[in-house]
Amino acid sequence: MIVVMKGGATADQIAAVVGQLTKMGFKTHLSEGVERTLVGAIGDKTNFSGDPILCLDGVMEIVPIRRPYKLVSREAHPRDTVIKVGSLAIGGDHKLLVMAGPCSVESREQLLETARACRAAGATILRGGAFKPRTSPYAFQGLGERGLEYLAEARAELDMPIITEVMDSEDVGLVARYADIMQIGARNMQNFTLLRKVARTGKPIMLKRGPSATIEEFLLAAEYLLSEGNTQVMLCERGIRTHENAYTRNTLDISAVPVIKRESHLPVIVDPSHGTGKWYLVGPMAKAALVAGADGLMMEVHPRPAEALSDGPQALLPDTFSRLMAELSELKGVLHRYALQTVGV
Ligand code: PEP
Ligand code: MN
Repeated sequence: MIVVMKGGATADQIAAVVGQLTKMGFKTHLSEGVERTLVGAIGDKTNFSGDPILCLDGVMEIVPIRRPYKLVSREAHPRDTVIKVGSLAIGGDHKLLVMAGPCSVESREQLLETARACRAAGATILRGGAFKPRTSPYAFQGLGERGLEYLAEARAELDMPIITEVMDSEDVGLVARYADIMQIGARNMQNFTLLRKVARTGKPIMLKRGPSATIEEFLLAAEYLLSEGNTQVMLCERGIRTHENAYTRNTLDISAVPVIKRESHLPVIVDPSHGTGKWYLVGPMAKAALVAGADGLMMEVHPRPAEALSDGPQALLPDTFSRLMAELSELKGVLHRYALQTVGV
């Protein structure tokens, strides 16, 4: 449920509500809006009576949260969450935000060459997998900690935050020492032990949608992260399994973007590389994602896709990526102007 404070409620009044809810066994989360503060209360409502709360000064009303995902829902937190990573803001921003890099960190040279090209093209965050979730146990599994060291070297040279996947609960501490954003891969979306452990690092997290997950399952997986007290969470649509498997690797669910933006305050990133599996579909779907309201994009780039140790067919060449980035930033500018016009600014 949400305790809605009156406009102008004082910090002491809010603190009294939080104190009372805590005494009654609820976990609380504050959402401070321009007009009023909302106090989200999560816990067992059996035998709950609102009276001890309603009689406190500054309280306007108690509203139940109807959605099963409480903390993730817009009901609990009407304003967009903005995640700060260094000087970057993810969500609620008008700049083009692109995470780019190779699927896997394959070698120091491959990573640095790719990272420099991505940076030069305007990418803001460097991606690269050191622990790879591969369908076959015989496929390249990633360089592990050595891969993380190369990512850290690229970050230091190029001043780019890094995002990388943590696959196993045992590696959470290790990955957290290197990563600026912890990625939870599609296959692990419902690995609840991993979710809780990653959330407890307090680091920003990008949670990818499971290949067969409904939007509700996706949002409930994110709820695990927020319920551990980590609010720095972004969601990534990366395509789902449908009956189509010849022309596309996955079916990129573009409609999930406005649905999630409506349901939740968390930033939404779209990954058209895994979402399509084909390099020539990445550009069109990246544009579609921005038009649909995505807060950012994740794309795979490789200087020699034919030699890539994973996901070569969906990797963009640096030149193609650079041309696409120019188009995307022009599109982002148009979308921003259009948004300003529609709200009458
Ligand atoms: C990745 O981004 O490196 C990755 C493996 O993606 P997904 O988990 O979406 O398959
Ligand atoms: Mn990949």
